[in-house]
Amino acid sequence: MINIVLFGKPGAGKGTQAEFLKEKYNLTHLSTGDIFRFNIKNETELGKLAKTYMDKGDLVPDEVTIQMLQSEVDKNLESKGFLFDGFPRTLSQAEALDAFLENKGDKITATVALEADDEILVKRLLERGKTSGRPDDQDEEKIRNRYQEYNEKTAPLMQYYKAQDKFYAVDGIGSIAEITHRLSSVIDSL
Ligand code: AMP
Repeated sequence: MINIVLFGKPGAGKGTQAEFLKEKYNLTHLSTGDIFRFNIKNETELGKLAKTYMDKGDLVPDEVTIQMLQSEVDKNLESKGFLFDGFPRTLSQAEALDAFLENKGDKITATVALEADDEILVKRLLERGKTSGRPDDQDEEKIRNRYQEYNEKTAPLMQYYKAQDKFYAVDGIGSIAEITHRLSSVIDSL
């Protein structure tokens, strides 16, 4: 089983690349952002709760996010491996994921980060906001808050995975195909 964490700041291209990688490596793609948005669209209790955080660009609390992720993994036990996109985003989430996978006799194979400059990404998200309909992509203040959340809570995970020798980074600027190629080179080398 191969379990990959796709890591990167908001707008770095995780979702776009996940679409290619899940096909290429036959992985189950789990995007916590997409699952929250699905719940918002369907007006579930989870969606209503998540929306209050997401609309401001804040992270959804760990307990809620971890429980949701675990139940998604449990729904896909026949999977050949997982591609985690947008999870983990805090140290508690990373530790919970490790413990959870270990319980199943499994582990994270590698974390691959898409690197890009904040200012390029802010412009990219504002552009995406014109068509995505996402409230958190349409307001520069909310976007900047998402970067602050990333810097404070998510960036420390790089050290967490580096300490386990599982962290790889690729340049996230280039054509979609070029970046898929860079990510594939890392995954093929694992
Ligand atoms: P994304 O689609 O990955 O950019 O996520 C959009 C929003 O969903 C984030 O700004 C958070 O509010 C929420 N979210 C997604 N994944 C997580 C997570 N792992 N932990 C907490 N909040 C999350």
